[in-house]
Amino acid sequence: MFGKGLLKGMGITWKEFWSEKLTVEYPDKLHPTPERFHGKFTLDVDKCIACSLCANACPNRVITLNKQKVGKKQYLTEYVMDIQYCLFCGLCVEACNKDAIHFSRDFNMNQYFLKDIPLVLVRREAPDEPEEEPEEAAEKPQPKAKAGDGAAKPQPKAEAGDSAEKPQPKAEAGDGAAKPQPKAEAETEAGENQDLTEAAPPDEAPAKEGQ
Ligand code: SF4
Ligand code: SF4
Repeated sequence: MFGKGLLKGMGITWKEFWSEKLTVEYPDKLHPTPERFHGKFTLDVDKCIACSLCANACPNRVITLNKQKVGKKQYLTEYVMDIQYCLFCGLCVEACNKDAIHFSRDFNMNQYFLKDIPLVLVRREAPDEPEEEPEEAAEKPQPKAKAGDGAAKPQPKAEAGDSAEKPQPKAEAGDGAAKPQPKAEAETEAGENQDLTEAAPPDEAPAKEGQ
């Protein structure tokens, strides 16, 4: 039958016209992205210590990291990602123990020129002198707080309070408490004297009998 396919196609169009729309008018409107979306990378430069753990964890060697020693610490001077080779696997984010590198929800990383594709997160010059001197000065009070560990010294004093046990030796010296025993003996002697006094009446009794 002529026109059967046309009617079938128009039927599908009519059905989809009234159904829920799954597309949006990009770029005027965007689909909502989930919270853990793996989009464009962001780097917290203040947290990064240039340890290279993220670069070593990357299976595609996407991350190029340069650093320079300033004072006692490493200063991150360049952090570039060849994002065209990135798998967005997240191994670099998991490897970072400073929580410095993250995914964002921005998925628009298209560029017109090849040279603009690498994602430059940091590119800067290292300072001549370390900037952490004030922080180190702020850290000095901490050792003082550690010196406050001498507060534990009262504990030895408390142990010195074990001298409270010294009264025990005094109590042992109180073995002189055995001296009361001589008192007991004195009591026994007194008892004997009492016996004597009690024994005296019998002497007096015969005297009375003699009378
Ligand atoms: S997401 Fe995966 S491939 Fe991309 S830079 Fe990180 S570790 Fe490398
Ligand atoms: S692992 Fe984290 S702290 Fe270490 S270089 Fe990478 S982003 Fe910086």
